[in-house]
Amino acid sequence: MTAALLPPVHQFKLGSFTVTVVRDGLSIIEKPWETFGANQQPETVQKMLSDNFLPTDRFVNTYAPAIIDTGSDLVVVDTGFGKPGRERGNGLLLAGLKAAGYAPEQVTVVALTHLHGDHIGGMVEDGAPAFPNARYVAGRKEYDFWSDKAREGTAAEGGHKLVLSNVTPFAEKTTFIGEGDQVVAGMTAMLATGHTPGHMVFHVESDGKQLVMTGDTANHYILSLQNPDWEVRFDMDKAQAAQSRRRVFDMIATDRIAFLGFHMPFPAVGFVEKNGSGFRYVPKSYQFDL
Ligand SMILES: [Zn+2]
Repeated sequence: MTAALLPPVHQFKLGSFTVTVVRDGLSIIEKPWETFGANQQPETVQKMLSDNFLPTDRFVNTYAPAIIDTGSDLVVVDTGFGKPGRERGNGLLLAGLKAAGYAPEQVTVVALTHLHGDHIGGMVEDGAPAFPNARYVAGRKEYDFWSDKAREGTAAEGGHKLVLSNVTPFAEKTTFIGEGDQVVAGMTAMLATGHTPGHMVFHVESDGKQLVMTGDTANHYILSLQNPDWEVRFDMDKAQAAQSRRRVFDMIATDRIAFLGFHMPFPAVGFVEKNGSGFRYVPKSYQFDL
């Protein structure tokens, strides 16, 4: 692996926990308005991008799985694209985990915010479990939706097949959870549906320090946070996703706590404050270093 291909890895302390964020990869995508402003005029979206010093015709989407070392558990939250993504330069979670000094065999828990391909692609590696000693934690509602045969012949068929190959084989080692359930000590799940039918966020707390892992609740740090009601192409239930976005980020803004958004600009950790009808994003700097 050349230096240029080494995965960026970012590490910080959250109380007595160590959080390692890995950039699994990135994609460059055309026409940002089609993804983040599906119910807006393209010019409206382009103006907001240019007002915020961003290119108007393309955007960069990044992927940020994370590893939480609680001292008693090593928890991987979401697994990136895995091997199928590697030909496009993605799928770097395992390399990042090793760069941070961990071995895949040390991972005790793999927790999933939801079951889209960029979150479950890294569950298997060459047909074998990527984290051979781990147990798994996934949303009951989310798993029931994607594993259901009723998805055949619908827009969700691709996702259904991927869940059958990447999640179902681990069902016996999976704890299926719902609202308020614990992932491990210090990590609690909350439903934030809309992006997918059982999408969850994880609230992490150690020694009074808090981090909410928001998964795909909001996926553009300007467009979706400043305009929580703008429709996002990848949100399956757009109204419900907007409602979850408002509820989760209202809580994060009110409590003034950090969040890690899977598609936020790497290292994907920041804060929000209420601003007009939306939120202003403030990237993390040295808040956890002092
Ligand atoms: Zn995603």
